[in-house]
Amino acid sequence: MEKANLFINGEACSVANTFAVVNPATAGIFAEAPACDESHVNRAIEGAAAAFNHWRLDILQRRNALNKMAEAIRENSEAIALLLTQEQGKPLKQARSEVMTSVMQIQLAASTEMPQEVLQDNDQSLIKIIRKPYGVVAAIVPWNYPVSIAMGKVATALIAGNTVVLKPSPYTPMATLKIAEVTQGIFPAGVFNTLSGLDFLGVQLTQHALVRKIDFTGSVNTGKKVAAAAAPDLKRITLELGGNDPAIILPDANPGKIAKALFWGAFTNSGQVCVAIKRVYVHESIQAALLQELAALANSTPVGNGLDDNTRLGPINNKAQFDRVNSLVSAAKQHGARVVAGGSALNQGYCFQPTILSDLRDDEAVVAQEQFGPVLPVLSYRDVDDAINRANASHFGLGSSVWSENTEHATVIAEQLEAGTTWVNQHLALSPIAPFGGAKWSGLGAINGKWGLEGATQMQVINVKRV
Ligand code: NAD
Repeated sequence: MEKANLFINGEACSVANTFAVVNPATAGIFAEAPACDESHVNRAIEGAAAAFNHWRLDILQRRNALNKMAEAIRENSEAIALLLTQEQGKPLKQARSEVMTSVMQIQLAASTEMPQEVLQDNDQSLIKIIRKPYGVVAAIVPWNYPVSIAMGKVATALIAGNTVVLKPSPYTPMATLKIAEVTQGIFPAGVFNTLSGLDFLGVQLTQHALVRKIDFTGSVNTGKKVAAAAAPDLKRITLELGGNDPAIILPDANPGKIAKALFWGAFTNSGQVCVAIKRVYVHESIQAALLQELAALANSTPVGNGLDDNTRLGPINNKAQFDRVNSLVSAAKQHGARVVAGGSALNQGYCFQPTILSDLRDDEAVVAQEQFGPVLPVLSYRDVDDAINRANASHFGLGSSVWSENTEHATVIAEQLEAGTTWVNQHLALSPIAPFGGAKWSGLGAINGKWGLEGATQMQVINVKRV
């Protein structure tokens, strides 16, 4: 049984209680993680608040420490990736790549300059904007990309001069705790703390008076609770929330050419990606051809334990989500949906067949809600304006895409979609040089580059009258 150590305020900390971490590929418990309580939350936040006074002062020290952090993660990447596959389910190759992405995120953050802007500089006056860290940042993370989401938040907050209390999801604490362990001693005590435990820790973090900023990624429902918890104290928030991304396939698209990119745009990480394709609107003239291509891919993609070399799609991460996906698919079938591929669970852990559905109404739950699993509803349209309206008829607005042989025409349609990011002839192609954030209920604020740094800092205008 795997066990993890806990460090708070730079010290090893014994925790009386533990909670079980399940390997979704087997549905068996593979690890015990420390179950922190309110006393640990207080200790971590108070340590982080005390450390802030010095940490904020010296960006060279911060660059140095972040580069060392990246190196420590790189040196231990195989152990971290193995934990990640066992707790999250994703194939080991993808777990390795998630860990290495984090190394790059941290290195990139270490080399960034803080945004500064001079608005006016003349004989009479100097007006400039500087950016200052908030103080203690609570970073709260979901279970789908536990390492890269956590490290993106931590690196951005730390380079900006904040200190951090990080809370992974109770489903996926182990790789994050390993990172906390292998980076011990790199940061001054209190600068970077990791707490594992159940959801109530998130509630306590969002309510604590010493937390000045909450950087949250998770579901829309929890995001709204975080916003409500932050409101009485006007804590700053960044919310990266759920999505129900539409992909519109124009009549001139070539099904054979685009099917693979569409399939992986929907099924990467077994569909457990905030910004995966979750609904396809295809022109009726090419629907049958596209369904045939997608079904062939679904039927030939090996699903199973992420530790097996052959596996391309791992299980659904947890029992609650597995049951939810199962019931969304069952309801759709009962309401007359056609199962074009897959359609049921496999007899192995929380594995589910990659499933393609058609003949559905837009108000069917598997279409209207974020299904967050290996299921793709494919709907047809006749008139492109109708497809645009249906794609936009959602509270979600994270990503979307338009597919066509005519990229100029597709780009005109892309601009009519309501989303934080819209791709043309691709999906899920996140770029580190572009901001990423949601429209409507999919989020507030953005991550990456100067936009991420602006979210991690308070602006201050300095207005000098020259005498
Ligand atoms: P979740 O909202 O259930 O949990 C996310 C985190 O919040 C966990 O660490 C959880 O312990 C914590 N939490 C739970 N209740 C809380 C509360 N009341 N206050 C504070 N924290 C609380 O989400 P999940 O099921 O772990 O993740 C899946 C969701 O995350 C999906 O909706 C997905 O789209 C979304 N997501 C969004 C992005 C993005 O960048 N927009 C990225 C990844 C995942």
